[in-house]
Amino acid sequence: GRDFKMDFFSLKDKVAVVTGGGSGLGLATVKRFVQAGAKVVLADISDKTGLAQELGCLYIKADVSKEKDVANLMEQTYRSYGLIDIVVNNAGIIMPEQLLTDADMKDFERLYSVNVFGVVHGLKYAPQHMKDGGVILNTASNSANGDYAGYGAYISSKCAVVGLTKAAAIELAPRNIRVNCICPNTIDTPMAYAEGCETELQVMGITTPLGRMCKAEEAAALYHFLASDDCRYITGEDIYIDGGLKAGP
Ligand code: NAD
Repeated sequence: GRDFKMDFFSLKDKVAVVTGGGSGLGLATVKRFVQAGAKVVLADISDKTGLAQELGCLYIKADVSKEKDVANLMEQTYRSYGLIDIVVNNAGIIMPEQLLTDADMKDFERLYSVNVFGVVHGLKYAPQHMKDGGVILNTASNSANGDYAGYGAYISSKCAVVGLTKAAAIELAPRNIRVNCICPNTIDTPMAYAEGCETELQVMGITTPLGRMCKAEEAAALYHFLASDDCRYITGEDIYIDGGLKAGP
C-alpha cells in the first residue's frame, strides 16, 4: 500500500497574519489559508470583527502605517497562538493620477506610509515572533516594472516593496525565514474600481495576452504556494502574476 499523504501545500496549524485582510486580495488569501488549515489573523484598518468570526479567524485592528499598531498586531498574535509562521504584508492603497511635477507631498507621504512603511513595519516586527523559520510575503505590483504616466508614487512604492523583499530575504535567510513578493497585474477587487484610477487599472488588466484582470483567488493561490513548505527553496523573489503582460503583447 501507499504510505504517502496528499498533504501538498498544507498549511495545517500554521499561524498566519494577513494585513489588509478585510477586502480583495487580502480577504481571498485569508479564506485560502483557512481552507489550507492555517490559524489566521485577519488584520485591517477597518472593523472586520463579524467577517473574521464568520471565517473562523481572529480580527485584530491595525493601521499598518503606524509602527505601534504593527508591533501590537504581532505581539497579540504571538500571545494568542504562541508563534507566528506566516505574515502577509498586503495592505496597500493607490491614488489618482498625479504627475511628479504636480506632486502633492501630503498625498505622496500618505501613500508611502502605507505601501512602503507598512511593509517595513511588518519586516521589523514579524521575525521577532518566528522560531525555526517562517515565511513573509509582500504584495508589490506589476507596476514595479512600469505603469502609466501619473502613477509615480504608486510605481515607486511598489519598487520599494521589491527592494525591501530582497533586503529582508538576505538578512533573514540565516534564520530560515523566506521573504518573497508577488507582482500582480490589475486584480478584480474594489481597488480596480477606485475613483480616478479605474480606467487605467482596468485597461491594464484587459490588455494582457490572457485578456482579463487577475482574480483575487488566483493571486491568493500563488500566496498559498509561496506560504507552503513545498516552496522552501524560493526566497528573495518578485513573482509576476500578470496574465502575460510582462512577456509582451
Ligand atoms: P482593496 O482596497 O480591495 O483592499 C485593501 C484592504 O486594505 C482593505 O480592506 C483596506 O481596509 C485595507 N487597508 C487600507 N489601508 C490600510 C492600512 N493603513 N492598514 C491596514 N489595512 C489597510 O485592495 P486590493 O486590491 O485587495 O489590494 C491589496 C494589495 O494588492 C495592495 O497592496 C495593492 O496595492 C495590491 N495590488 C492591487 C492590485 C489591484 O489591481 N487591485 C494590483 C496589484 C497589486
